[in-house]
Amino acid sequence: MICHVCESEMRYRFHIDIHPLYRCTVCRLECLNPQPGDAVLRAIYDESYFLGSGDSNNEKLMAKMKKSTALGYLELLNTHLVGVENPRLLEVGCGSGDFLVTAKEQGYSVAGVEISRAAVRDANRKLEEKAVMQGELSNLDPEQLGKFDCCVLFDVLEHVRNPLTFLGNLKNILNDSGVCFVVTPSLDSWSAKLLGRHWMEYKPEHLFYFDERNIKSLLNHAGLSPVSISPNWKVLNFSYINSHMQKFRVPILSSVSSVLSTLLPRKLREQNFRIVASGMNVLANKRQHRSV
Ligand SMILES: [Zn+2]
Repeated sequence: MICHVCESEMRYRFHIDIHPLYRCTVCRLECLNPQPGDAVLRAIYDESYFLGSGDSNNEKLMAKMKKSTALGYLELLNTHLVGVENPRLLEVGCGSGDFLVTAKEQGYSVAGVEISRAAVRDANRKLEEKAVMQGELSNLDPEQLGKFDCCVLFDVLEHVRNPLTFLGNLKNILNDSGVCFVVTPSLDSWSAKLLGRHWMEYKPEHLFYFDERNIKSLLNHAGLSPVSISPNWKVLNFSYINSHMQKFRVPILSSVSSVLSTLLPRKLREQNFRIVASGMNVLANKRQHRSV
């Protein structure tokens, strides 16, 4: 088996459920091989895939967390878009559009692409415009999409079947001075190093696992120049972390979390804070010349 990024040999590591995971002997990219079939992935991406549905108090808390995270992401993006008036932003895999709503409030002209029909409807209703298209980036007409000042992918790249082709498509719809912002799990994160094969990001729907070095190579191959890579943080609260820990169980930590949730007062459980957990923020420019 050959590495998607550097074409070196890959070796078997262990199974994630019934799916064999391989690691590149040179650049340390990890991937599932063979990838789970479409039917397996469709069964995973059902309506309960997103936490927080059903309970209105929980949904309000989720919305607050997402908004704080979105504002932080936009602050970071703004530092790479100096002097661009009313930047045109595309979010691929925008779900029900919460990030796009915040971006629009902050003066961005927004568009989205999303596979789930229900999420597309929800997003367009919240945005009060038909800004989100249903489908996959590769199936949409680039002429119809137009060019963007920034494209963002939050927890998407690890799900796609061919990240190199995907990023190549993204590059083609960026303006010459455009910026791409990718958030994806990182094998360099403290949680990956601490939890090893029990890392919470090891899931059948995550087809690829990157680190800082191999994602730089991947971006370069796709014609994008990485400009900054930093640990990702999200705004979360203890209630959310605990529900995640119970859904995707991690030895010891899930049990400790369950006990803590019965001991902590509600106010503390629902207090938002920034946490660096398992991902990286990657910003890249469209490369003008193949000089690297
Ligand atoms: Zn490799």
